[in-house]
Amino acid sequence: MSEEHIFILTNGQKIPVIINNRRGAHNVTLRPKIGKNPEIHISKPWMTSTSFVLKFLESKRKWVEKVFDAAPQKEEIKPGMTIEFLGRNVKLMHDGGLRGNCYTNEEKTILCIGGGADMFERRVRDFVKEELLQEIKIIIKTTPREYWPRHITLRDTSSRWGSCSATGNVSFSWRLAFAPYEVMRYVVMHELSHRKHMDHSKEFWANVSELYGFGVERAKRWLSQNGQSLQRYF
Ligand SMILES: [Zn+2]
Repeated sequence: MSEEHIFILTNGQKIPVIINNRRGAHNVTLRPKIGKNPEIHISKPWMTSTSFVLKFLESKRKWVEKVFDAAPQKEEIKPGMTIEFLGRNVKLMHDGGLRGNCYTNEEKTILCIGGGADMFERRVRDFVKEELLQEIKIIIKTTPREYWPRHITLRDTSSRWGSCSATGNVSFSWRLAFAPYEVMRYVVMHELSHRKHMDHSKEFWANVSELYGFGVERAKRWLSQNGQSLQRYF
């Protein structure tokens, strides 16, 4: 059984609060859920009153506000807007009469998306993913063959930018498409280096530098400082 309340942030945003009684719970736990539909989940021992829980939540307001403030705001993808991906600023246009999508200029700075208007955002996302995959393949081809993975997968992960399995499959967060090109290239070289070193040893980092070239530290730093910004769309 759960009950629902509303928590109003200082900026006026209304966040649903879902309170659950937990069998065997000894204290009240608070979990702000960020994302498209933000919520605050609270579990409490059944004996604890709702008014106590709401007071407790109020006492934690500063922290809760901080969590939601830090959460990236999603920006809606609309025709006419310009987004940056793969190091290029691309203006997005919509043409319902078009079946596919295509760049309308040689510089690839104007992208025309076909299909229904309701599919616009999704088609842009699929297009960006496909372009990223092609770009990753091009980068991989610049390395010696022994680094080439068996299989490449794109995922939607916010905590890991890439991974490499012992069997030689690599995966990347498709959101790297929104990172500076060199940062994305660094993640590719990082994962490829795991084809030789499955750890983060000195030898591993030497290998990354060998593949990537100068500036590994800068790319790493960019990701740790700005990684969250890659979540701003979709
Ligand atoms: Zn690693």
